[in-house]
Amino acid sequence: MRKIFLWFIFSVCIASQTDAQKTIAIKCGQLLDTKSGQILSNQIILVKDNKIDGIVSANAFNQKTDSFIDLSNYFVLPGLIDTHTHVLLQGDITSDDYAVQLFKESIPYRTLRAVRSAKISLENGFTTIRDLETEGAMYADADIKKAINNGVIPGPRMFVATRAINTVGHYPISPKEFNWELDLPKGIQEINGADEARRAVREQIAHGADWIKIYADRGYYQLPDGSFRSLPNFTAEEINAVADETIKSRKKLAAHAMTRDGILAAINAGAISIEHGSGMDDECIKLMVQKNVYWCPTIFVNEYVAEGRAKAGSIINMQFKQAAPALFKKALTAGVKIVYGTDIGGYDWNLPQAKDFEYMVQWGMNNIKAIQTATIVAAQLLDQEGLIGEIKSGAFADIIAVKGDPTKDITLLQQVQWVMKDGIVYKTSK
Ligand SMILES: [Zn+2]
Repeated sequence: MRKIFLWFIFSVCIASQTDAQKTIAIKCGQLLDTKSGQILSNQIILVKDNKIDGIVSANAFNQKTDSFIDLSNYFVLPGLIDTHTHVLLQGDITSDDYAVQLFKESIPYRTLRAVRSAKISLENGFTTIRDLETEGAMYADADIKKAINNGVIPGPRMFVATRAINTVGHYPISPKEFNWELDLPKGIQEINGADEARRAVREQIAHGADWIKIYADRGYYQLPDGSFRSLPNFTAEEINAVADETIKSRKKLAAHAMTRDGILAAINAGAISIEHGSGMDDECIKLMVQKNVYWCPTIFVNEYVAEGRAKAGSIINMQFKQAAPALFKKALTAGVKIVYGTDIGGYDWNLPQAKDFEYMVQWGMNNIKAIQTATIVAAQLLDQEGLIGEIKSGAFADIIAVKGDPTKDITLLQQVQWVMKDGIVYKTSK
């Protein structure tokens, strides 16, 4: 018995010694400093365990490391961050697509599909995601996050919102067309009144929510002058209760909000990020700049679903699509903090996750600034500055590589060739 115990202690010591000494040198053809926007050549990144230990010139490098990775034919940058995903959703162009997932698939089945989504995100080069609600899959996002953190499955770093909150009967996609006698799952947690709002926030945080998400408006429509309006979902008491409870727990509030009817209420209550915002007006833009609120425009998803939804009888996404380029330019010029978020899961996980970059650049943002939306700006939003979104000493070893220069051709980010997260390589080029 004692012998076994001593052997155990000995093994643990050996293991930790080996782990502590695990060092990797990565030689980069080109390396992007996401903070300054500078491209460095002939650099070596030193990785120790799961962190970056330093960056040195390849010419001056003479250190012995446990392994050496040669990326001298690649352009290297930090792992990307997608601040709006749904791992538990597999595309919902129409409400029928949504109904199949909520009413015909169990949460365990949806979670198995989410395991695949998480792996795809990592292989796409998005090594961190903010997953903005499970769409009826309760707290399964917190389990996916736990399984990734415990090394059970591969996947990105996750910040999760669990169930999201809306008021009774106001979720845009609801089982309205189904027999009212059926007790069907809902895409969000419904509340009524300030007390229930506080309870929902407390429950979600207790079950692992890093963020609280609300749906601030619904029923979007366009006026003859081209502006957009909607119906607000919360009373002032309700939205303030959600925000107050969130902020008191040192969490942050994200608001799905399309027009001024939702956006202004959400920002005034204390929301940090506006999701979609496809129908925002000048006053919203001004308030967002004033209050340092992030805009997560989720461009490709709207472009992608617009036609299918128009065919199914709803033209609003088509109208948002027509307004999108001018709105993006206006917000960019005004200095709104634009952060990268795709809403993938709202569209099929087999479609590109890096597609939004293309629109951003087409609509006037320069390539480096576009990359920054998914690196340093996203890290700021997540309170992870210096830990993700940058290749520097002390940051997590989340590193990706592409062939060619994405500061010249942004579409290259749709073909990430090599991915490391936490010092472990998950994808190598073919
Ligand atoms: Zn979404």
